[in-house]
Amino acid sequence: MHELPFTKSIFRTVSAKAAQAGAEGVSRVVLEVGQLRDYIPEIVQKYWDYVAEGTIAEGAKIEINIIPATVRCRDCGHVYELDVKNIQESHCPGCGCVKGELETGRELRIVGIEIF
Ligand SMILES: [Zn+2]
Repeated sequence: MHELPFTKSIFRTVSAKAAQAGAEGVSRVVLEVGQLRDYIPEIVQKYWDYVAEGTIAEGAKIEINIIPATVRCRDCGHVYELDVKNIQESHCPGCGCVKGELETGRELRIVGIEIF
C-alpha cells in the first residue's frame, strides 16, 4: 500500500512541528495532494491512526484536498485538465496536440496543522 510511507513522512513532520510548538496534541492536519498520487484519504487516515497511536499526534483528523491533474500544452500553452482514466487519449482541447508538461497533479504539501 503506497499510502504508508507517505503517511509516515507526514507524521514525522507534523509531530516534529507540534513538539516544537509545545503542543499537547494535534487535532487536524490539512494536506494538498495531487490527483496523480492516487492516495485514498480513508486509507491515509487509517494508517495515521496506526502510526500516531500513543504519540502527540494521536487522534488527529487528516483532511486531504485533491489537486486535479493539469497539463500545459507544448504547442499553444493552453492549460487543461488531464483525463487520468484515459491519459493515452488525453490531448489539448485548443489545438489537439498530445504533448504537454504536467502543471499540477503531483503535489504533496502540508497546508495546515491544528494543535492544542
Ligand atoms: Zn494546444
